[in-house]
Amino acid sequence: MKRQLRQWRERFSELGNRLGDRHVRLAVTGLSRAGKTVFTTSLIHFLRHLRHEAHGALLGIESVEGVEVQGSPSLDAPLFPYESVIDRLGGTQPRWPESTRSVSEIRLAIRFRPRQTLLTRGERTLYVDIVDYPGEWLLDLPLLDADFGDWSRAMLALCETEPRRTRARDWLAFLGGLDPAGGVDPAVLREGTRLYREFLRACRSEPPALQLLQPGHFLMPGDLEGAPMLEFFPLAVPAPGAGEPSALWTELERRFEAYKQHVVRQFYERHFSRFDRQIVLVDLLSVLEDGPAAYEDTRRAVAAILEHFQYGQGAWWTRLFSPRIDRLLFAVTKADRVSRSQSPLLRELLARMFSEPENDIAFKGVAVKTLAVSALCCTQDARCTVEGRPLSCVRGIPEGQDEERVVFPGQVPGEPPLPGDWPDYAFMAFRPPRLADVHSAALPQLKMFEVVRFLLEDRLA
Ligand code: GDP
Repeated sequence: MKRQLRQWRERFSELGNRLGDRHVRLAVTGLSRAGKTVFTTSLIHFLRHLRHEAHGALLGIESVEGVEVQGSPSLDAPLFPYESVIDRLGGTQPRWPESTRSVSEIRLAIRFRPRQTLLTRGERTLYVDIVDYPGEWLLDLPLLDADFGDWSRAMLALCETEPRRTRARDWLAFLGGLDPAGGVDPAVLREGTRLYREFLRACRSEPPALQLLQPGHFLMPGDLEGAPMLEFFPLAVPAPGAGEPSALWTELERRFEAYKQHVVRQFYERHFSRFDRQIVLVDLLSVLEDGPAAYEDTRRAVAAILEHFQYGQGAWWTRLFSPRIDRLLFAVTKADRVSRSQSPLLRELLARMFSEPENDIAFKGVAVKTLAVSALCCTQDARCTVEGRPLSCVRGIPEGQDEERVVFPGQVPGEPPLPGDWPDYAFMAFRPPRLADVHSAALPQLKMFEVVRFLLEDRLA
């Protein structure tokens, strides 16, 4: 009851802000390791230094007066660790942040002077809320529309092809050995869950790494580790007319529904149902490295997730009560891993990868943009010559090394390669650069201003 009251209070104050169109809730969506934490940190840091960057005129306003981090907008969500990530990246031995293990939020207040007219005078404040969460949990959203039978059928169908078939061998053998008339033995539930989890972990960690892995909390349980709700697995769907479902089926179905209700729905309603703007981050270079199965898997996973956001413009009064996303940005992350001249190729590849969902969403009147970005540039362009031919190289500290080097980072293809003809891509990973004073300016980045302009410009008017 208390919790509900608090939620209503938060929503009420959010509504107050929306009335003046002074509130933007940003969804930074991306699968695990897509680069959400570094991107969110770099975006906040960029906004914090917008005042110094003479960007006001480019944003169509007089000036940005200052940007403040105001804490977490929700009383029960921890604050996104912006300060500690910045300290880590800006230290004398810069290090990448730890991967996200739970949900966190942050609110920024942007104080600005709009173009001074008779109607708009003085200063205004735009509040921007951002949510960070483990990418694995995003994959749970498609479960909201599925029942246990749909889900089991879909998961088992995926296991009919490689690389899942081999990785699921032990778990599938366990399913094959189950006695359909056997009762509900807790040891059997535990063993089935253990094998299914092992299978999911193998799919995530063995190359090619896959993304469409459900339930997401099996890989990243947060504070639900060991909860009985997290003990279930897909089961072959009983044939039509086969009589009453077995006790095992009924129990697994009950747990699946409890998981949806108490984990997925709560997560969605608490953090995901009220967005105005969305950024979809994709680590396309790693997807290319992982090959055609990973490419197809990522495409499907992102498309399935996109179906769970609400898009469209709607009248302003309907948006007050049920906000809908009216701007969507697709971004390739870590574009600094290759030379700057390859950014357009990355952008084009991403646009082709999500051409269908992008088209469907744009049809609803949503503004959609695609960019290749780097939240933290670890390299600079360098030219080198090999056998008399100039080559686009980059200069940076390769991961696992201590010294800066000029390297050929690899070539991004002009279009998606044919599945049977997929080259062995190997793009280099880099350590974060040493920065003289991380608090004096935005992080070195690519296209962050374009990101800000696309997401916020109309709300600053
Ligand atoms: P998350 O799991 O989506 O939150 O991903 P992170 O933001 O933690 O990033 C995962 C990893 O990607 C980092 O540890 C870095 O190795 C790499 N990375 C993230 N952003 C960048 C970037 O802008 N440039 C480069 N070169 N690497 C990045």
